[in-house]
Amino acid sequence: MSQFIENMDVYEVEGYHVQVIVKPANKHAYIRLHESKSISITTPVKLSKNQVVKHVKDFLSKQKEKSYVHPDSSLGNYFEYKGFNISLNRKARNKHVNARLKEDGSILVSGPFHTPNHIIYSLLDKLIEKLESKVDLDKAKKTNFQNGDTIYILGQAFMVKIHTTKGKEYVSLDKENYLFNVHVKDVNNQTSIDKQVDLYIGNAAKKILRERFNVVVESFHHIDFMPILKIRRMKTKYGVCYYKRNEVALSTLLMHYDAECIDYVIIHELSHFIVPNHSKKFYHLIEQYMPHYKNAERKLKNVVD
Ligand SMILES: [Zn+2]
Repeated sequence: MSQFIENMDVYEVEGYHVQVIVKPANKHAYIRLHESKSISITTPVKLSKNQVVKHVKDFLSKQKEKSYVHPDSSLGNYFEYKGFNISLNRKARNKHVNARLKEDGSILVSGPFHTPNHIIYSLLDKLIEKLESKVDLDKAKKTNFQNGDTIYILGQAFMVKIHTTKGKEYVSLDKENYLFNVHVKDVNNQTSIDKQVDLYIGNAAKKILRERFNVVVESFHHIDFMPILKIRRMKTKYGVCYYKRNEVALSTLLMHYDAECIDYVIIHELSHFIVPNHSKKFYHLIEQYMPHYKNAERKLKNVVD
C-alpha cells in the first residue's frame, strides 16, 4: 500500500462496501465502482460519514442514469443469461455493440461504455434465438438411425430395429430384449424413421422429465414455488434456468441419460433460482441435494458430442 495513504475508512452504504482512502497528495477526489458491489473513494481530505453517504448516493444515481449499473447488478463483466455465460467488454473506443458466440460456447458482447442494458439484452435475445434454431436444424439432419444402431434410453442401450408396417407408424420398446423397434411404411425412408424416433423421444421426455421434475422440486426446499417447466429439443444444453421468469427448460436429450443425470440437471437448474452463476456457492448448494453430483456431470460430458 502506498506510503501516501493517511488512513482508510470502511462503510456500508446502500448495500455497497465503501472504502475511503485518504491520499493528501491527490488534487481531487474520485470515486470508483468495483465488481461485487464495492466502491472506493480516493480523496485528499478526510470525509465525514455524512459526506461519504452523499458522495455514494450521488454517484449511484448518476450511474443509474447512465445505466452502468443494472438494478439487480447482474450486468457485471460476467453474467449468465438464458443459460449462456456472457462476458461483457465495455470500452470507450468501441463504436458499435455486437455479440458473438465464442469457441467455448460462451457469448462475448462488446460495445461502448454507455450501452444501455436493454440494448445488450435485445442483442443477446436475437443471437440466442438464432443459435437455438440452428441447433434444431443440426439435430434434424443428424439423427439418421439405421438397423443395428445403438440408442440410449434412460441410460440403457437398445438396438434399433426397423420394421415395415402397413398401418400407423410408431416406435415400441422391447425392454426384455433391449430392442428399439421402429415401425414405418417404407424402411428406406430415412426421414420417416427419424421422425418416429424423434416423436418417441419427445413424447417420452414430456412425460418422464415432468414426473422427475415434480419429484425433485418437491424435495428442493430452497424454493417455495413450482417453476414453469418447458421440454424443448435443445441440442447444446441439457437445461436452462430462466430465473427471472420462474421457468426451467429441459432438453429432450436428457431422455438418453439415466435418472441420476436427469435429477442432476434438474437440481442444477433449480439451484440457479438461488445462485444464478456457477460459483462455489452454487455447487455447494447442489452438493446438499446430490453429494456425488460430479458422477452425473462426468456421465453427461462423456456422451455429449
Ligand atoms: Zn448452470
